Amino acid sequence: MSETRRQAVLSEADVIVIGGGIAGASTAYHLAAHGRSVALLERGDIASGASGVNGGLLGGSGWGRLPGLDDYLSMGSLELFKMLQSDLGYHVEFRQSGSLTAIHTEEQYSYALRVVQSARAGGRDVELLTTREARAIEPFACPDMPGYVYSRQRGNANPVRATRAFADAARQAGASVLTGHEVTAVEALADGSYRVSTRRGEFRAGALVLAAGAWCAPVGEMLGLSIPVIPVRGQMWATEPLPPRVFQGISSMESQLFWKAHGEDTTPHNLTHRGGVRQTRHLYGRQTQSGEIAFGGDRQLAGYDATPDAQGIEVNKTHAGEVLPLLTDLPIARTWAGLMPFTLDGEPLIGKIPLRQNLYIVGGLASSGFGRGPMAGKLLADFVHTGHMPHVLAESDPAGRVTDA
Ligand SMILES: Cc1cc2nc3c(=O)[nH]c(=O)nc-3n(C[C@H](O)[C@H](O)[C@H](O)COP(=O)(O)OP(=O)(O)OC[C@H]3O[C@@H](n4cnc5c(N)ncnc54)[C@H](O)[C@@H]3O)c2cc1C
Repeated sequence: MSETRRQAVLSEADVIVIGGGIAGASTAYHLAAHGRSVALLERGDIASGASGVNGGLLGGSGWGRLPGLDDYLSMGSLELFKMLQSDLGYHVEFRQSGSLTAIHTEEQYSYALRVVQSARAGGRDVELLTTREARAIEPFACPDMPGYVYSRQRGNANPVRATRAFADAARQAGASVLTGHEVTAVEALADGSYRVSTRRGEFRAGALVLAAGAWCAPVGEMLGLSIPVIPVRGQMWATEPLPPRVFQGISSMESQLFWKAHGEDTTPHNLTHRGGVRQTRHLYGRQTQSGEIAFGGDRQLAGYDATPDAQGIEVNKTHAGEVLPLLTDLPIARTWAGLMPFTLDGEPLIGKIPLRQNLYIVGGLASSGFGRGPMAGKLLADFVHTGHMPHVLAESDPAGRVTDA
């Protein structure tokens, strides 16, 4: 091999993971913990995509009697956040705070009643609270709402800290975590292995995991594949740091009821806008450990443009003020946006892409990937390591969904 060639091949690993968001970092950690040699390639810093700018809210309403993929992803991830903080010692500001969903109207109340009854019949941990009961645990919640849905299992964590903790844990377990390594070309070799090019050199591995979030489609194109993931812009705003005021995750029933009837009117599903026109108001937020009260909700198609839309931020702030009136007079200190990886059919893509050998994807985690990414990465790592698909991943099987371009 020539000197130039020798310098160009930086690393050979069992597995290369492309993308250092929560999904890629968790996959790399769990593969390394299985004893596999792993190289994680991230073009920016760890958590420079959606995983670093999200609301930090973690879903989950118990495993239920017959857990499906969503239960595994959300409840399994809650366990992994606990493990990260309590067992591995990373302070990621994880707190199982519970969450309240505000019910604004009688129509929403009837809908919430049906949803809660059916969830409880399925063994899930949700409750319909009177406004008085809700204000006992969230004193600044609006007293004029007909009621609130309480999900006690939900939590929150610091997005950047948690994602970087998974990447650091991967490094501690032996993985090479390489930032500033943008993947520019990928070649599937005849023996089933991969050559991955970055501006800083070339990497080789026996298996490849695509974990490039909203950029899965352009990375898939490098392999001649069409990956049905598109970017959806999410945006948020925050107050200056304040003393503790908000104790749960906070959301609203408004979009849930709208999407029940109209969620599939858009592709991808469950967007707040259609053709640039607002269809519904979506809301989620919390107070962070630094004291900022941060809210967001809009989900809009804007290509790869991650500039916040000021009008949408105002609508969201008004909505948040209806649920927490103390927000009405507080100024916005900062706004930001990021790109969520939505699939066209609404299901995540976690598993093996059978069109190429030894090729895997963990993506399409949409608007709840921070709370589902850790377990998505673990399930995918288990699949890669054992060669056997964890049975719950049947729901996210890329077969037939990822096609030749
Ligand atoms: C404003 C906002 C609020 C949100 N709020 C919540 C919330 O409260 N709770 C929740 O659960 N989820 C939330 N989400 C969704 C969640 O953030 C995402 O679903 C999740 O972070 C996706 O993780 P990921 O690892 O798949 O993608 P990302 O975090 O986007 O990671 C993909 C990585 O791949 C890298 N990459 C791309 N192309 C290349 C390349 N060619 N070479 C090398 N690297 C590359 C990118 O730089 C990026 O770091 C929110 C998202 C946004 C934008």
